[in-house]
Amino acid sequence: MIGESWVTTTVDKLEEWGQNNSLWPLPFGTACCAIEFMSVVSSHYDMARFGYEVVRFSPRQSDVMIVAGTITDKMGPTLKRIYEQMPDPKWVVSMGACACSGGFYRAYHVMQGIDEIVPVDVYVPGCPPTPEGLMYGILQLKEKIKRDTRRRLKEKRADSDDSGSAAA
Ligand code: SF4
Repeated sequence: MIGESWVTTTVDKLEEWGQNNSLWPLPFGTACCAIEFMSVVSSHYDMARFGYEVVRFSPRQSDVMIVAGTITDKMGPTLKRIYEQMPDPKWVVSMGACACSGGFYRAYHVMQGIDEIVPVDVYVPGCPPTPEGLMYGILQLKEKIKRDTRRRLKEKRADSDDSGSAAA
């Protein structure tokens, strides 16, 4: 009850709303793009107002990895390991030309895109992307998370319906 009004909803809708409005980003910053990420979390752009509330440096406490910078072949396994340590459900934002495609580093030691090793949900182009560009990307991710959460909850319901009818 809010004041004199009542709000009704379903548990699924509540879970979807909670998931989408309480995202804890893990920055994987390796180069200049990370500086732009810092401005997005600062008071001027304040990405917390879109639900990206608490920046975490522990993968076990995060659900959105934001990769900002050049990823070398040597660093790739570390990035993959940290991604694997994040609990499900989880998402990845590839920020900047380097993370998306290697950028201008057409070199033997640089990964030509982090999607070679982790699944990417949103690509943010630019060298570096503007803070507004990253904000647009994380808003697009929110839309995707909404769709993903709906699908996950639907599958969960279908599974429990199946096991219920199998038991009957
Ligand atoms: S995309 Fe540009 S700004 Fe970002 S890490 Fe690469 S060189 Fe730096």
